[in-house]
Amino acid sequence: MRRAVCPGSFDPVTNGHIDIVSRASRLFDEVVVAIGVNKAKASARLFSADERIEMLELACAPYPNVSVAGFDGLLTTFCEQNGIKAIVKGLRAVSDFDYELQMAQMNSSLVDVETVFIPTSPEYSFLASSLVKEVATFGGDVSRLVPPFVLERLTKRLAERAAGGAGE
Ligand code: ADP
Repeated sequence: MRRAVCPGSFDPVTNGHIDIVSRASRLFDEVVVAIGVNKAKASARLFSADERIEMLELACAPYPNVSVAGFDGLLTTFCEQNGIKAIVKGLRAVSDFDYELQMAQMNSSLVDVETVFIPTSPEYSFLASSLVKEVATFGGDVSRLVPPFVLERLTKRLAERAAGGAGE
């Protein structure tokens, strides 16, 4: 059984993430999308861990061999605990590569795990959750970059923030 993990913060999930997860689901028997739920980073997030998990579960529903899980601590520990030998990462640009190479080498020095890089689809090469949030905050149209259920929650959360507080 070839099992892989697609890790990330997914704050929120974008069409770029879904593209990588769906392509990974064709390469591996099972794919676990693992969301970092590190409490120390919670205040930096727009969505709570539960909200991010819920959106990812909706996004991954069309792929029967994909499941969603939260993880705290080291990704390599999660891999060991779940019998996972492959980490799948999307590469958008050379700027991603420097960091991802270092991380891949560190992870394989810690446990028996390989990192598999999947090149971004050209239409998503500029896409990152942080940029989606920034553009949406200033009223830009991100409807082609995230699924409709994410757009709905994003619009609501940003409106709450602008009104001063709820959901923070
Ligand atoms: P962000 O989306 O802000 O980069 P994440 O931590 O949620 O942050 O991303 C998780 C992983 O998903 C990234 O490390 C990268 O491998 C992949 N990824 C994210 N966006 C894209 C994209 N547009 N194309 C390809 N891979 C992507």
